[in-house]
Amino acid sequence: MAQAQAQKRKPRMPIESGCPDGFQYMHPTMVKNFGRWSYHEHPRAGVLRHVAHSGDEIWTVKAGTQRILDVFTLRKLCDIGDEYADGHVRFTIRSNIEYMVSDAGKVEPLIGALESAGFVVGGTANSVTSISHTQGWLHCDIPGTDASGVVKAMMDELIDEFKNCNMPNRVHITTSCCQINCGGQGDIAINVQHTKPPRINHDLVANVCERPSVVARCPVAAIRPAQVNGKPSLEVDEKKCICCGACYPPCPPMQINDPEHTKLAIWVGGNHSNARSRPTFQKLVAAGVPNNPPRWPEATAIVKRILRAYKEDAKDWERINDWIDRIGWPRFFELTGLPFTKYHIDHWRGSRKSLNSSSYIRF
Ligand code: SF4
Ligand code: SF4
Repeated sequence: MAQAQAQKRKPRMPIESGCPDGFQYMHPTMVKNFGRWSYHEHPRAGVLRHVAHSGDEIWTVKAGTQRILDVFTLRKLCDIGDEYADGHVRFTIRSNIEYMVSDAGKVEPLIGALESAGFVVGGTANSVTSISHTQGWLHCDIPGTDASGVVKAMMDELIDEFKNCNMPNRVHITTSCCQINCGGQGDIAINVQHTKPPRINHDLVANVCERPSVVARCPVAAIRPAQVNGKPSLEVDEKKCICCGACYPPCPPMQINDPEHTKLAIWVGGNHSNARSRPTFQKLVAAGVPNNPPRWPEATAIVKRILRAYKEDAKDWERINDWIDRIGWPRFFELTGLPFTKYHIDHWRGSRKSLNSSSYIRF
């Protein structure tokens, strides 16, 4: 009885489901020298060498992988880490795997093992690193395309730019499978673009949707409750709708994805602030690009054109946004050969009108 009471008084321990402490997985040389690195260098594409104040050295070998890994590939990568590296790996935010070794003699055999297993070593310094992408159909409820497919098709064509460091500076490319949520931030971003308002299946709305949450979701207050065929449903004011797709997740019967009218748009120049410059917004450079699986040739051709012009014209160390700031937008369109249309302009009076259609911003 006393034991049962003592058991009862014992506080329940928190369930740790967050990110585990990374130190337990780090290479011992990295733990030992944490925060005490002297300098690093880049001996070849895909390899970094860090030297600590203590004189310790560590080599990092980077290889591209798909973001969504199957268990067999993961085991293969881990086996390579156990056999050819020191048993420590980490994944970068752009889906590259990195192996750390403290012995220079292990670098070349590790690269050989990775390449003979079909992985590509590269993605460091002034290369085009792996395109980062969002979860797509595997894990999310609103995609308008398969982001992983776009990445695979494009990286197949950009493999030389991943393996070699031929760009003026680092290039980050991103894809995003809807136009409102995650992803879509980079030197070049390929984002979904819906071009038609959602089509409503009125028979399903009453059974599936919480209508107040759908109405609240719309950023321009274009959705109203309505009675259709005697059933509670919704209606969309198509003049106000900006085709953002935000109503589709809480109400799947408001179908906005469409094989013909869901397109891709390409934006450039998004960048975080750094030691030399302020953060920059992306700007639209191509709209209405066909969302054309399985190889997305039109979108890939535009990305390659932008990369070619950047590679030929930018000065060393200029990122894409720095390059465009220097040469100006008219020259950017001239060099890339992309058409400049009225859709690229939202002048002040236009901005005022479009911003004032938001239910949140009024001025
Ligand atoms: S970009 Fe949009 S559709 Fe794709 S995973 Fe993120 S929220 Fe989902
Ligand atoms: S697509 Fe966007 S703007 Fe149009 S009705 Fe849905 S939430 Fe509103």
